[in-house]
Amino acid sequence: MHDYPKTLLEFQQFFPDEMACARHLEHIRWPEGFECMACRLPGEPWRLLSRPRVLECSHCGYQTSLTAGTIMHGSRQPLHVWFWAAYLVTTQTPGMRALQFQKQLGLGRDETAFQMLHKLRVAMVRPERDGIGGEWPVELDETWVGGATQGEGRGRHHKTLVVGAVEVRPRAKAPGPDPNLPTGQAKTAHRGGHGRSIIAGRLRLQVVSGRSQKELEAFALAAVAPNSVVRTDGWIGDDNLTKLGYRHDPLSIQGDQEKTEAHLPMIHIVFGNLDAWLLGSHHGVSPKHLQAYLNEFVFRFNRRFWPMVAFDSVLNIATRLEAPTYRELYEGKRAHPIPAKPGQPVPTG
Ligand SMILES: [Zn+2]
Repeated sequence: MHDYPKTLLEFQQFFPDEMACARHLEHIRWPEGFECMACRLPGEPWRLLSRPRVLECSHCGYQTSLTAGTIMHGSRQPLHVWFWAAYLVTTQTPGMRALQFQKQLGLGRDETAFQMLHKLRVAMVRPERDGIGGEWPVELDETWVGGATQGEGRGRHHKTLVVGAVEVRPRAKAPGPDPNLPTGQAKTAHRGGHGRSIIAGRLRLQVVSGRSQKELEAFALAAVAPNSVVRTDGWIGDDNLTKLGYRHDPLSIQGDQEKTEAHLPMIHIVFGNLDAWLLGSHHGVSPKHLQAYLNEFVFRFNRRFWPMVAFDSVLNIATRLEAPTYRELYEGKRAHPIPAKPGQPVPTG
């Protein structure tokens, strides 16, 4: 399947029943056609109408479960409910709250809604393998998140420090319009202060306990590829980033809001969106859960141009597949993920 349902009506037409959902799972797992896990022979399997999640080998009779090892494993919910859930979670910009989720999917118990949502969120918490940056510069900055606890006023004691890193890419290479900018804003109106029209690439966000160099350096090393150009407003010591193997591009004049915006435009847009999402959709998030929400935000952000990839990933198919890299997607070289080698153990986290 190369198309992506762009409306709820189209989604219903793509996935009208259990068998349609099962065929989609099958296609993603075996893009070149089914191959039996037991006898390794290719060929059309038997598909039982009464058990859409099971494929039976036409040679040896071995039965393969389509949902084994995925977040849907062992669930009593029909596949199409999971598909709706994954679709809503990946396409609704603000994400979903449990109550809204339960109502929209007509789930009988709020526990069911909570568990499904939780499992979907777990499927988003997949560490990326490679650092961002490389040939693209990275904006690195920090922000305080939260703090508007009801009845207690705003205070720093309820705020959590978050560090973020985002790639900056020229707009010409990016597919489609930039969802970071308010609708109606003229393209030429937003230039990154470097004479070019730019767009946010991949994002990383991390909760940190404070401004210790150790933590900041650990984040940089985990998030940003070696030798990348890293832009900051000077809050990280120049020596430290250079020591770690980055080309540091600090802003020399601190405290000037306009110059800071021009130097780090993308990460500030991201922080603004994050704040609006946490407060608007979730009415604030407690510090201990914040990282899970950051992961959800980053997951959707990094896949915003490829909703079908996000949709497939969140059904946890990606844990058993080698997902295409961001660049491969940009260049359109791999429309489909490459399946893991047959017989490999299936990761379940
Ligand atoms: Zn077989």
